[in-house]
Amino acid sequence: MTEDRLQDSNERLVEKKRENPIWCPGCGDFGVLQSLVKALQDLGKTSRETVIVSGIGCSGRMPYFIDAYGFHTLHGRALPVALGMKKSNPDLTVIVVGGDGDGFGIGGGHLPHIARRNVNITYFILDNSVYGLTKGQSSPTTEIGQQTKSAVAGETVRPLDILGMLLVYRTSFVASAHTANRPRLTEIMREAISHNGFSAVHIYSPCPTYNKLMTFDSLRETAYTVPDDHDQRNLSAGLQINFEHNGMIDGIVYKEQIAEIQEESNLAMTRKDNFKKLVARYV
Ligand code: SF4
Repeated sequence: MTEDRLQDSNERLVEKKRENPIWCPGCGDFGVLQSLVKALQDLGKTSRETVIVSGIGCSGRMPYFIDAYGFHTLHGRALPVALGMKKSNPDLTVIVVGGDGDGFGIGGGHLPHIARRNVNITYFILDNSVYGLTKGQSSPTTEIGQQTKSAVAGETVRPLDILGMLLVYRTSFVASAHTANRPRLTEIMREAISHNGFSAVHIYSPCPTYNKLMTFDSLRETAYTVPDDHDQRNLSAGLQINFEHNGMIDGIVYKEQIAEIQEESNLAMTRKDNFKKLVARYV
């Protein structure tokens, strides 16, 4: 990279790339892309300090359309790759984008361990309740009765409770949003990225090609808006809201304040002590 280009990327805010996304017309992922870029710009993030990490699936293409560092990883493995990036360069803003199949099917085992480490990365889960890239099979969040390519008479298996899992794993920032309310989605993304600790946002992002049940209208009509007086520090209250509204929620559900202390100590360990201990073990 030449000196001029290095200078430019140091100062240039994250932008959308000129390439047009190749998602189907009407895909909810377009709205997530717009909101994510806007949130990063609002926070003053530059291309050089930001990395977008993704797994496999339609949403896995996100890094191609954002002018920042990007890593399109293996199926279900975006979180551990992001963990490695953050630990090796704590100054990076690390954003993970992945679908319900990627993160809660093959990649489901990684979430609790990222959550308990409380690494300062942000995970945006784009949930369309179907495997879109492989043409419409049931995913871990497909609703009972929903017809898919792999359940032609209707799904019979219960969907995973994504928000509930995030909460019981003690993710230090938990929110839910949908692409039918873009300003709100952008606002929640800003808060999640600003949070000092592991933050996760469950985003309903319709797939009009393979899931006819989740539409922009249905999300607008059914999503419960978290009231201003909800106590974000109260885990029980967060679990209760999720239980009462079956995860169909728009707002911040839980925010743990101790995250900052843990994360500071994590980073300090990573930068100095851990490296010294590792070297001492082998010399
Ligand atoms: Fe979007 Fe569904 Fe098309 Fe994939 S298959 S790009 S999720 S609309």
